[in-house]
Order: sequence, then C-alpha cells, then structure tokens
Amino acid sequence: MEYIPGSNFLQSIVSDDLSSGRIKEVVTRFPPEPNGHLHIGHAKAISVNFGLAEANEGRCNLRFDDTNPEKESQEYIEAIQADVRWLGYSWNGEVRYASSYFQQFYDWAIVLVTQGNAYVCDLGADEAREYRGTLTESGRNSPSRERSVSENLDLLARMKAGEFDDGAKVLRAKIDMSSPNINMRDPILYRIRSTPHHQTGTDWVIYPTYDFAHGQEDAIEGITHSICTLEFEDHRPLYNWLIEHLPVPSEPKQYEFGRLNPSFTVTSKRKLKQLVDEGVVMGWDDPRMPTVSGMRRRGYTPAAIRKFCDMIGTTRSDGVVDIAMLEFAIREDLNENAMRGMCVLRPLKVVLTDYPSDNIENLHAPAHPSRDDLGERLLPFTRELYIDADDFREEANKKFKRLVLGKRVRLRNAYVIEADEVLKDARGNVCEVHAHIIADTLGENPADGIKPKGVIQWVSASHGKNAQVRLYERLFSHESPDKGDNAFMDHINPESLEVVMEAWIEPSLAEASPEQRYQFEREGYFVADRYDHCSDKPVFNRTIGLRDTWNNR
Ligand code: ATP
Ligand code: MG
Repeated sequence: MEYIPGSNFLQSIVSDDLSSGRIKEVVTRFPPEPNGHLHIGHAKAISVNFGLAEANEGRCNLRFDDTNPEKESQEYIEAIQADVRWLGYSWNGEVRYASSYFQQFYDWAIVLVTQGNAYVCDLGADEAREYRGTLTESGRNSPSRERSVSENLDLLARMKAGEFDDGAKVLRAKIDMSSPNINMRDPILYRIRSTPHHQTGTDWVIYPTYDFAHGQEDAIEGITHSICTLEFEDHRPLYNWLIEHLPVPSEPKQYEFGRLNPSFTVTSKRKLKQLVDEGVVMGWDDPRMPTVSGMRRRGYTPAAIRKFCDMIGTTRSDGVVDIAMLEFAIREDLNENAMRGMCVLRPLKVVLTDYPSDNIENLHAPAHPSRDDLGERLLPFTRELYIDADDFREEANKKFKRLVLGKRVRLRNAYVIEADEVLKDARGNVCEVHAHIIADTLGENPADGIKPKGVIQWVSASHGKNAQVRLYERLFSHESPDKGDNAFMDHINPESLEVVMEAWIEPSLAEASPEQRYQFEREGYFVADRYDHCSDKPVFNRTIGLRDTWNNR
C-alpha cells in the first residue's frame, strides 16, 4: 500500500464528513489540562489535532481544560504555549480557556435541572461510591434523586453562593443507575471546591467535571472532531447525551485513538512530577525527561519529533512504540542538518616533536560533508594537541584502527602522524605521547606508501577550549518501567548522566549559540545547552550516539 504521510482512520472520517457535507471545514482542538508540562504523548495528540487541521485547511484551537484549580497553575499555561509553538504549530485565534465558559456551563446546568434531568445530591463520596454499584452490579438511586425542580434550583443556587462546604453536595445528571456503563449512572456535573482559580479567582466555588465541561466547550467553539485517547471511549455516550439535552450551538463528535506509550519511558504527568519532586532529575526540562522541554534541551528537533509522530501512525489500539524509532528520527535529521565539529572527551596530550612551537596552521574543514551551504570551519593546527585517551594504545592488535606506538594514524582533516614514545605518570599511566608528522600528508597519502590504519579526532591544546559535556543515556533501564506491577522508580538507570568536566573542543564549537546542534565526529550528536552554555564556559549535552548501541551491549 502506498504510504501517505499523515493518513490514518481519522483522516478518512474527516474526508467523508467533508465530502458528504456534514461539515464545511474541519475544526479540532488540543485541550491540555494545565497541571503539568507536555510530554511526548501530548506531542502525538498535538500532531494529530493540528495535523488534521493543517492537512484539510481547517483550524485547530488551543484550549486549556482548566476545570480543576487545585492542581493547575499559570506557570504550566505559559510553558504549554511555548512548547506548542516550539513544535511548530500555531493555533487558531487567541488561546482559549474552559474557565471563560463557566457562566455558560452554569446556565446549562439550570437548563438540565429545569428539564428534570439533573439534581442536587447529598451523598458523601463514600456513600456515592456504594450507591454507584460495580461493573457486575447495578447501582441504586440516591435518596436525593426525586427532589423537585424548584428545590434543586434553590440548592444549586446556594451551592454556587458558597453556602455549603467542599464535598457536601454535588450536582448530578439524572440518567440511569442501572446502565451497564458506569459513566451513565447519574454522573457528577458540578463539585464544590472553595479553591481560588488561576483565571477566575474567587468568582466560583463550584467547578464543572471534565464530562460536563468538555463536550460543551467543543460545542461552543464549533469543534467538528473532538479527538481524544481511548480511555474516554466509555465517556462518549455521556458526551452525546449532554449534547442532545442542551441547547448547544453546534454538535461536535468525539473520536478516540490509542495513546502513545514509548518503550523505556513513562508518560504520565503524575509520574513525571514525582521524578522532579524527588530530585531524580533536575526539573521538568531535564534532558532525560520525555517532556517537550526536556527533549528540546536534549537537542531533539521539532522536525524529528513531528516525523516520529507521523511514522508511528494513529490507530485505535494501545501499544508500546519502540523508543528507537524516535532516536532514529533524531539521528536522521541531525545527520542531514547538524554541523560537524571535533571534541575530545578524555584528553591525552600529543606533542609533535618536529613541529615548531610557535607555528600555527589554519586548516579548513567543511562544516558538513555534503552540505556546502553550511560553509567551512577553521581548525588551528599546533605542536601540542589533544586526542582521546581511548584512541591510543602502546600495543594493540590489527583491529585497533587508531594510534599505536610506532604506528600511524590520520588526524581528521589534518596530517598523518606516527607515535614515537610515551611519558608516564607515577602510577604508570600514559600521560603524554610524542609523535612526528609524516610530511606532505595534508589530504594526501604518505609518499612511502605506508597508509595509516584509521582516522581520529583531535583538538589544538593551545587553541581549543575546555568544555563541560553531559553524556545522557535513557532514564529507565526497563523497557516498560511502569507496566503492570512494575514500580517505575525501581527502574531508574543509574548511568543516565555522566558529566565530563575536562572535555576539549575545537574553537568553532565555543562560538556556538545556545541550542545549536552538532555532530561531534566519531562521538555522536550534541547540542549547546540552552541555559548554561556560553563561549567562555561551553556546555554541551549529548542528544544521541551515532548509532544504536543500546541493543548490542
Ligand atoms: P497524563 O495522563 O499524562 O496526565 P492527560 O491525558 O491527563 O495526560 P491532558 O492534559 O488531559 O493530559 O491531555 C491533553 C490531551 O493530550 C488529551 O486529549 C489527551 O488525550 C492527550 N494525551 C495525553 N497523553 C497522551 C498520550 N500518551 N498519547 C496520546 N495522546 C495523549
Ligand atoms: Mg487529564
């Protein structure tokens, strides 16, 4: 079958609705609750909603589903907007808030009460649970169920006026306590919560539930396709019931798709918050976090995240997606677009004994092997250099294609050298290598025909700069850290961060602007840290290694 980007069962539904004339234009929304930062799962929901609108010349709203003031905050509202923008999407018009419709919801609650379709219930939380029944047992009617319309109107007004304590009463829809769908057993529409709200202050002490708010928000905004994840499938009858019973201005329809669960990851805001609160990571934007801000700081690109969301498809089943697919998308993007540079993570000094100490040669190297548009970089070549300690051995077999005493190696973008002798410290560790240059080997093979075995990176000791490099690995060492009985906190990878304080980088890298991405040749992809990097104190984060080494350890 031909692969059409962005095509999925939702696109088929939209196409049918457009061609049958049910809708003239597709209108979707992304409705985060501002109670945490966005994560990779939200990125998927964003790409589905904004993607459908974009592909069909429709619109997508950004709406905060802010009906639960206890856990929400302005900080999250701002961070979520920044994340959506960074992913490259722009919402239709102003940002919207469920809270700006609170008066309308209340007026509609009065409509339901007046119809005899809602009542004020006095059952406490424990009693209500008992009356609700179970999956196998029908529920029982609340003793409050047969209240008169006028009594209900009076009680509702007094709930709103703040006469009752939190939890003392709720407003419930009057549907069917024996419904096999528990969501239809007289669901709660309003709760009393005397918590000030980040948008409406102390105007309200009653707050609508998700079910009473969501569909009505969609109707007010003229949403045509209200797309959510599968756990809301059982709520759909209630969604439809409310739309049918209320004088709403439009008739949205709800569709569900399977949540994205990448392997080696947790995607629950509650669990992510726990990682932050318990200091397992440094914050919501720690580069190991699957949050949008964490992935950004790690060096992931919006294009790669969008590509991944598209690649994995949108289906009606929940399943685990291999995190390697995301890593593949990142590597592919960075291989294509990231400039190259040389970095030595564990510096070992090499002195070129035949090279004058006051000499500097300004060598040039392409910024990218196939992208001439990215220009060139300047590589100062000097008598004293650093190479990686792992790239030198006194003795080695033929498989070791790096520098060996008495043998040759090519310095990337520079000369072939040959190692002559080593200096050792008191403990017998090699601390300096003396070598000489093979003449006329800049871009040429040695005239004597003795070719070097390999190519290694190097940085001038006098012209390079010291850098801090943070080597990140996956945060969890278990494929499904929170599946079933797994306590996700027990599966934290103890080696998810190694900070290298004494790395050495070529001068062009110190000039990187924050968030600039590179391939450090032979090492992997790195990004200049968004907050901590500056040319005097360069700081780089490893985004991802050059190839997938995880599976071959
Ligand atoms: P969490 O479980 O992490 O707290 P949530 O579903 O409560 O997430 P919301 O802010 O309510 O978070 O979600 C906004 C939208 O993002 C919803 O439409 C929700 O279905 C969608 N969404 C959340 N997590 C995922 C996921 N893992 N995959 C796909 N969509 C998701
Ligand atoms: Mg939620």
